Amino acid sequence: MKRMGAVVAALVFMIFSVTAWSFNFLNGSQKWSGASTRIYTGLGGTAPGGITWSVALRQAAQEWNEKTDFTFDISGEYRDPCAGTATGSRPDFLNGVGFGTTVCGEAFNSTTIAVTVSYRRSNILGSLEFEEADIVFNSNLNFDVYDGPLRINSNNAPVYDFRRVALHEFGHVIGLDHDDRQAAIMNSRIGSLSRLQQDDIAGVNALYAGINNCSLSGTGFGWQFGGLQSGDCRIQQLMSGGTDTSFVDIYTLDVANDLTVKVDVQTDGRLNAVLILATEKLGNFKVDEGSAGNCVPSLQSNLPAGKYVILVNTYTNTPPCNLASTGNYRLSVSYTSAGLLTLGGRQSFKGGISEATYRGGVTVNGGLTYGNRVGPNQPFDVRGRINIDPRHQGQPGFLAVAVITHTGEILVKNQLGEFVAYQPEQQLIPVTQRKILTAVEDIEIFKQFVASSIGISSISVDFLIGYGLDSNPDELYYHQQPINLLVE
Ligand SMILES: [Zn+2]
Repeated sequence: MKRMGAVVAALVFMIFSVTAWSFNFLNGSQKWSGASTRIYTGLGGTAPGGITWSVALRQAAQEWNEKTDFTFDISGEYRDPCAGTATGSRPDFLNGVGFGTTVCGEAFNSTTIAVTVSYRRSNILGSLEFEEADIVFNSNLNFDVYDGPLRINSNNAPVYDFRRVALHEFGHVIGLDHDDRQAAIMNSRIGSLSRLQQDDIAGVNALYAGINNCSLSGTGFGWQFGGLQSGDCRIQQLMSGGTDTSFVDIYTLDVANDLTVKVDVQTDGRLNAVLILATEKLGNFKVDEGSAGNCVPSLQSNLPAGKYVILVNTYTNTPPCNLASTGNYRLSVSYTSAGLLTLGGRQSFKGGISEATYRGGVTVNGGLTYGNRVGPNQPFDVRGRINIDPRHQGQPGFLAVAVITHTGEILVKNQLGEFVAYQPEQQLIPVTQRKILTAVEDIEIFKQFVASSIGISSISVDFLIGYGLDSNPDELYYHQQPINLLVE
């Protein structure tokens, strides 16, 4: 991390605000990684009207949280906004809020109510990222907390509404600049507005929702085939700013359990790919551009359950491996987990409802761990488990197993245990086993199978499991998120 410089934005007082406006970004649309930062609101003291400064700060932060895509992680502790600002000292990377007779030693301009000082750095995608933002309120002025028009005290001095000033300064913390073209909390002069306006909200959302500028593909585990080419989204669009114009494909990945996820990419030999893994809100970037020195990127990360994005990216200029910044690729997404994976997305053939839950996975060690990637000569088991809807337990019914290959071919497991082509016109519901349904149905899809024994060295296939009732034989309950098997 490197300190890039300080940005100072001041709120100037005046009774009127101006007409017509539109949101504006702070010099070069820098933002917080992951659309979130912690703010320390434990400022001591109470306004003349009885509300504590700390509560007013929290209300202001909460308003941004409720109305925009940005999230303040609100701490009730106090942090000195001037910590680390002395000459020669380093920022403390904590976002403090306080009162001061000066801005950490610099005199307040006579018209300044509060100041936000922020520190930023360049991130790996060439965009500016905040590392710290502190707010100092001018304690030479009078404050209270109230809504509506600005008040004047008995000495004809203005009494400023602390909460709307906080709302404005938090806008600077998030990354908005002044804009006087329309009525907004982010107008440069304080006015009678005491709540966020549509333009303030639109500004934050435009700054942080760049992912909406690009088309997203959902991905599970296994293979994804794609290409980087002209017309693709660019990092600059994804990040709502910055200078990186390289192409990027974006895959969303829902992780239902805590997992170790590994992402690899094979290219057509032309494309110089870069892999990036990030949270859904583009935080906690992990990047690999071929760290092993082989120009073949690969990423591995322990991911808590949540929503993530995998970015297949390349270079803006000539790539370093004597390759191109366009071309085709195959993405492999694999995982290891301590147990069976939860398989989300309940489905049914006829729209019936089942509260069943589905789990599944591939194991090469008898169930000590699960994953989806196996070697062609490695024996493995594929297992599924259905917790049957309590209303369906004890009834005569059936279990079903299907396989979908990466080319879209569907095979079903018949009652002899053989995988045969799915022929819905002959048998709509593929029955693998008939039985009285119990609370938990364990389904052994493959046991000690070796891919090379049927001549397979490389494949990605998805398994689905389901069940139905003899009393409703055309209905099948199953799941959307498949059990993936990756032979590589
Ligand atoms: Zn301002």
